[in-house]
Amino acid sequence: MWVDGHGSAGKFVSSLPKFAPLPVSSPTSAPRGRRPGVAAHLQASAANTRCTEQRLLNGMNGGPGAISLRSASMPGCHDPQRNRLLAALSPRERERIYPQLQLVEMPLGGVLYESDDVLRHAYFPTDSIVSVLYVLADGASTELLAVGNEGLIGIALFMGGETTPSRAIVQSAGHAYRLVGQLLKDEFHRDGPMRPLLLRYTQALITQMAQTAVCNRHHTVDQQLCRWLLLSLDRLSSNELIVTQERIANMLGVRREGVTEAACRLDKLGVIRNARGRISILNRSKLENLCCECYAVVKKEADRLLPPALPR
Ligand SMILES: [Zn+2]
Repeated sequence: MWVDGHGSAGKFVSSLPKFAPLPVSSPTSAPRGRRPGVAAHLQASAANTRCTEQRLLNGMNGGPGAISLRSASMPGCHDPQRNRLLAALSPRERERIYPQLQLVEMPLGGVLYESDDVLRHAYFPTDSIVSVLYVLADGASTELLAVGNEGLIGIALFMGGETTPSRAIVQSAGHAYRLVGQLLKDEFHRDGPMRPLLLRYTQALITQMAQTAVCNRHHTVDQQLCRWLLLSLDRLSSNELIVTQERIANMLGVRREGVTEAACRLDKLGVIRNARGRISILNRSKLENLCCECYAVVKKEADRLLPPALPR
């Protein structure tokens, strides 16, 4: 099982990847007064386009801590500005926050936190997607919301609640920048430009949750699948999703057979190609036409409240 290293391992599905506590190897461990600022970060980004990777103890070769950690100032294919919230920070906020970020790999199925865990970190996805689920006592689950490069996982940190009754799990593998929770709280209470940004993001999340509830109650599985595919696609740089029908069923809170039938119908219409745990979107405009209004409502509100979407 892969969890955020604060004592919740083993509470749920044993087949999930494991996330070991991480030794910190980031700019936060640099000698005082020698931490790279934004200017140094940008210069380094321009000078060096290679992404080197530090594999940690028991790293990606099947060991229990299957995750790696990179410096936030690591230039090249990873950049904090691949996250819309981090990209929208003021120069002063970047100066304070960017050196504190840790780039982490987000393996498929990794659990960031479980129900009632006290959050220790906030996560800003860049090319990964995290689903926040409610897991019933019988093990069934439904996705409440999803977070990609438009947002962050960990609003309970600055909202003051500290815990939530939900589980956050990596739905699409990739990377995120991790920030110690206390630093996010400090930034929120600083009364600077980051606070209204985080509040607007929270409002967009509320819209997404509300619309998900409406969609689950009033719309068909076919329409729900279209909504889910479109919202996932908006957060990825490709037109392909690596996801099983069983996982989609867990997200939508419906039977797997219902997802299989809906995916077959979309496949026959030439909208998607669905094979061996991969879904390729062949005709996006047709997918939008087949979708209910819920996707447009969520997207419109996100576009209104959040910083501009990043180029794909
Ligand atoms: Zn709907």
